[in-house]
Amino acid sequence: MAARSGAGAGPEDLSQSLLDMLRFSGPATKPVLTARVGAGRTLVTQKINELIDVGLVSEDRVGRSTGGRIPREVRFRSEAAAVLGIEVGSSSLDVAITDLAGRPAVTHHEPWDITKGPEATLDRLEQIVNQLRDEPQAPTVPLVAVGAGLAAPVEFTTGRPISPPYMPGWDGYPVRDRLSDRFGVEAWVDNDVSAMALAELRAGNAQDASDFLFVKLGLGIGAGLVSGGVLHRGADGCAGDIAHIPVATKSPALCRCGRRGCLAAHASGAALTREARRLADSGESPYLAALAAEGTTLEAAHVTAASHAGDPAATELLAQTGRFIGTALGTYVSFFNPSLVAIGGAVSQAGDILLAAIRQAVYEFSLPLATRHLQITPSDLGDTAGVVGAACTALDAMLRANRLDWWAEQPLKN
Ligand SMILES: [Zn+2]
Repeated sequence: MAARSGAGAGPEDLSQSLLDMLRFSGPATKPVLTARVGAGRTLVTQKINELIDVGLVSEDRVGRSTGGRIPREVRFRSEAAAVLGIEVGSSSLDVAITDLAGRPAVTHHEPWDITKGPEATLDRLEQIVNQLRDEPQAPTVPLVAVGAGLAAPVEFTTGRPISPPYMPGWDGYPVRDRLSDRFGVEAWVDNDVSAMALAELRAGNAQDASDFLFVKLGLGIGAGLVSGGVLHRGADGCAGDIAHIPVATKSPALCRCGRRGCLAAHASGAALTREARRLADSGESPYLAALAAEGTTLEAAHVTAASHAGDPAATELLAQTGRFIGTALGTYVSFFNPSLVAIGGAVSQAGDILLAAIRQAVYEFSLPLATRHLQITPSDLGDTAGVVGAACTALDAMLRANRLDWWAEQPLKN
């Protein structure tokens, strides 16, 4: 778990430890919490009462009395307020309104041309949010923050995309400030894959892993790192941006960034789409050639369908894609020694052939000690990873003990 011990810490650290424990480990009785934080009972009770007064925590009866006192548990009130989670992808927009645990109550997905620029995108996001707030399942509690993940390198401290390769017109745009202006609450902005790694830590397969890599295989490819239970963004916020590292190939393909031989140019949804069309045109894949002849616009998902139908060229393409990804990941596994590599994004749906090739290459190209306890598994967050991660980015920043005075001013109480 990511909850840190409060032993030897100051009063604010003790509040933080209690809040983190209740967020990440679920409800507990006061004696259990007291034992876990290793502080005095009176002080722990005082800190819990402060959290109750603010409205973030409640103490509820659980079960029936068996003759003695009725047992009571302290729990985090995830229903107390709502957060917006936004994912601005390279070809789509996703929005969710979540609770304070990052669980989506209502969601929306639509294709979107990101090259329309930031103003048009924010206009559309505002419309989507207004629609979502009118849905019957939408939370009626106050909206307290917005988090957004962008398919771009993001300077986290300012919330601005920096030289985004796929988002012309967005370079340096103050996304964080503009989101805050639009929705009237504080905003946080991060790279979309870093946000997804956070989602995996908070709500996915990695809740018990403190060192792991999240790899997103979508139209592009990227990774997010969690080290010691904390998202590692790096000095400038671009840690894990593996899309444009070079791969070893005799025929380097042109990348959208303008260079040749990048991982994204050989092992991404865009690369699979390009190769699917080539296999159809050349007739190497009779399955894909037949689809193209029917007028189907070939995409990455058709390669998976072709492979499932027994098409050898499509199967080899998926295996080659997995080898490129696994070879690159093998280096990072040796360097970083994670216990888990979680694979998400639309292309991860390609299934066993891709995953097996990734695993094989990782084992081949990393140290035996680094892979002794390594698990390589698909992420089970699916389509919601981006919005859940964006909401969690905001929540991790908001649910701080040094913000309790701010929370006290919010109308959270029942
Ligand atoms: Zn590139």
